[in-house]
Amino acid sequence: MEPVRLAFLMKSSLFRIIPLLSEVADAARRAAKACAPDHAIVTANSPNGFPCRHCLRWAKPGERLILFPYAAVPLGHPYSEIGPIFVHAESCERYAATHEYPAYFRNGRVMRAYNSKFDMIDAEVVNGNEPESVIEKLFQNPETAFVDARSVSRGCFTFRILRA
Ligand SMILES: [Zn+2]
Repeated sequence: MEPVRLAFLMKSSLFRIIPLLSEVADAARRAAKACAPDHAIVTANSPNGFPCRHCLRWAKPGERLILFPYAAVPLGHPYSEIGPIFVHAESCERYAATHEYPAYFRNGRVMRAYNSKFDMIDAEVVNGNEPESVIEKLFQNPETAFVDARSVSRGCFTFRILRA
């Protein structure tokens, strides 16, 4: 095998992207239809302001999304955290290239490392670096159970990353 191809395979096999579960997206769509007060329907009015956590794309201006609170770190832990996320209001295809870092979110993210007890143990802003190398570095700590990518400006959860 060519060395370049082999290097790519080795690099890409280090982690796995975990987009929002389809069940969670569908439940949000049902709750919005039922007019749940904590599920707002909004219309994207800029090309890079409304990231869908299910397909891991920016909603296009004019597309409708549901804004709702999501517990990225579940209740019952010191680092419990519930925060706002968007999903497309219409059904969309869950991000499937889980061995590849999502192309749309290479900038403006912070990577937070957590241990198996949901304690945040490290964090690093992807500041002009390759996100893959930041993820790789955080997983070099054997205590790191998962890494969460969040918006560096607003702090919102974007997606989870597990070891491959
Ligand atoms: Zn979507």
